Amino acid sequence: MDKQQDFVLRTIEERGVKFVRLWFTDVIGTLKSVAIAPAEVEGAFSEGIGFDGSAIEGLTRVHESDLLAHPDPTTFQLLPWRGDVDPTARMFCDLTTPDGLPAVSDPRNVLKRTLSRAADAGFTFYTHPEMEFYLFKKGAPGEPPVPVDQAGYFDNVPGGTAHDFRRRAVRMLEDLGISVEYSHHEGGPGQNEIDLRYADGLTMADNIMTFRTVVKEVAIEQGVYATFMPKPLAGAPGSGMHTHMSLFEGDTNAMYEESATHQLSQTGRHFIAGLLKHSDEISLVLNQFVNSYKRVWGGDEAPSYVAWGHNNRSALVRVPMYKPGKGQSARIEHRGVDSAANPYLAYALMLSAGLKGIENEYELPPEAEDNIWLLSESERRALGYRPLPSSLDQAIGRMEESELVAETLGEQVFSYVLANKRREFEQYRAQVTSYELKTTLDII
Ligand code: GLN
Ligand code: MG
Ligand code: MG
Ligand code: MG
Repeated sequence: MDKQQDFVLRTIEERGVKFVRLWFTDVIGTLKSVAIAPAEVEGAFSEGIGFDGSAIEGLTRVHESDLLAHPDPTTFQLLPWRGDVDPTARMFCDLTTPDGLPAVSDPRNVLKRTLSRAADAGFTFYTHPEMEFYLFKKGAPGEPPVPVDQAGYFDNVPGGTAHDFRRRAVRMLEDLGISVEYSHHEGGPGQNEIDLRYADGLTMADNIMTFRTVVKEVAIEQGVYATFMPKPLAGAPGSGMHTHMSLFEGDTNAMYEESATHQLSQTGRHFIAGLLKHSDEISLVLNQFVNSYKRVWGGDEAPSYVAWGHNNRSALVRVPMYKPGKGQSARIEHRGVDSAANPYLAYALMLSAGLKGIENEYELPPEAEDNIWLLSESERRALGYRPLPSSLDQAIGRMEESELVAETLGEQVFSYVLANKRREFEQYRAQVTSYELKTTLDII
């Protein structure tokens, strides 16, 4: 029994914890949970808890369905919304096969593998996401949702739901050991943003899963409905999960170089070049739903073209300014990934694309200085700003041909994502929408 495991067992005892939830994530990014009795925790540490993986889509092929969940003691936390009486705790799990090998379909394992590739190259990967989401009044399913307010960017809404909501959510996140840097009303009616303080890639992917759960729980508590759907309202901004990334070599920020343009090091330049070059291939994971492409192409500051820039909010990758003397906070911001992505797979692919740029010394194209949306199509072509995939269907086509994605996700996750997304697109294509009826029924 290691020290961390020992700490967990002692805390369970001291706090009188009655349920321990074991959490893991399926390939699409849905949180899965099984509660065990405190007496089972020791066994879960030593042997894992068995379950039928084939019951969870994407996790196994049916003929090899047994999986074991091994709780990671460093992720032990009490769940604040379950209260102090008979408390409930949770731990994230790593999944293995019965013979102890990491389950190839476990998204957490996909990210861990990629992080250890980065470690082999001498890098630790840190991220911090800006989490955007909408709060709606509960409405009838299938009807357009009704926002809880009509406020906009940074608005202070006296007595409003959003204000109380953020206060409560931030408090809960802090109780769970997740530090929050900023929170504010976002551009859309009922839209909010909460920015998490940076952490290493694996901790952050776990934090994002926790974040979504906290936001949903607080919404239920306050009688509203929270969603991370990328574009819930036509004509209002979508919900992005802009992610700031940095690489550290020991204590040194490898993206920083004092004398370089924008203080962006050669390593940083190669990393961005990798992200840009592979952006079409990784789009299916960063923007994984039919609805994601309505955000990508719906305006309101969601990037639609492949370009980078310095403080340019129309670019896919942005190099933010930071205060003089704060070189350690140098980072780049990816603005493409949306709020409904599986954070483990998205971060694995973003890191992998960046590392590829470093390994192969990809050259960074010139930066975009103009507002890309205001250029004409031929100007954009001349400047080399190619469009991101315009639909789920196109993104499927790009990923199908990607060696980088196949290598990073592993064969099983790669084919599962493609099969799942092909099915989603076909179901979508089979719909006859009210828009079509409105515009086409009467034309001939
Ligand atoms: N909501 C926008 C997006 O979808 C971002 C707006 C912002 O944070 N400036 O990416
Ligand atoms: Mg922001
Ligand atoms: Mg924002
Ligand atoms: Mg941002």
